[in-house]
Amino acid sequence: MREQELKDNLISVEERVAAACKRAGRNRDEVTLIAVSKTKPVSDLQVIYDQGMRSFGENKVQELTEKIPEMPNDIDWHLIGHLQRNKVKYIVDKVKLIHSVDSYRLAEEINIQAKKHGVIVPILIEVNAANETTKFGVKLEEAKQLCQEISHLDAVHIMGLMTIAPNVVVPEENRGIFHKIKDLSVDIANENIDNVDMRILSMGMTNDFEVAIEEGATHVRVGTAIFGERNYNL
Ligand SMILES: *Cc1c(COP(=O)(O)O)cnc(C)c1O
Repeated sequence: MREQELKDNLISVEERVAAACKRAGRNRDEVTLIAVSKTKPVSDLQVIYDQGMRSFGENKVQELTEKIPEMPNDIDWHLIGHLQRNKVKYIVDKVKLIHSVDSYRLAEEINIQAKKHGVIVPILIEVNAANETTKFGVKLEEAKQLCQEISHLDAVHIMGLMTIAPNVVVPEENRGIFHKIKDLSVDIANENIDNVDMRILSMGMTNDFEVAIEEGATHVRVGTAIFGERNYNL
């Protein structure tokens, strides 16, 4: 039965998160598990919600804005996918965190919309750690500069970095990448830039979240291991 399957999946992911925290000598409450619910029906989200989950991640603005009114209002919604400037206005006051800011122009638009809605918007800088041409995100060596530029926008607040690691066969292969992102966040934190925090590291997905936690992730974005495979042809 679907409900039991989802409950079992969540328990198993929770156990793996807890075990990774333990191996790394970290407290479980240092890591936020985000249930990535893209393509999944709200009935699935509700099952996971009823198990206590309050952090959900979506990668499309339209899907996010459709799901929000269908779900209880104490959820932290995370926008984890690429964001187009013309869609910022629909979500700016509805999300807990935008994980995918990779240009000044996008941050500028978020700043404008944030002011219109009277909010301050927490964001992460997306870093394309492996320099993959298929991925969004700034290069490692460009991240600090972008943080400096965005720091002057007073209605956005940089909370840290996000990365999508390569799709590898063995999760261990991504350890070096996660380590580099952690190093970069320490490096940027040491600059003590006004209005820039480096307390969040959003990295690790179904395939590699345990390694990411061992390397310092504070937020892991897990879809498939909780909700099962996605079918994009529905
Ligand atoms: C889909 C998605 C995830 C979750 O991927 P899984 O491998 O299913 O866990 C995480 N982060 C981003 C940005 C995504 O788009």
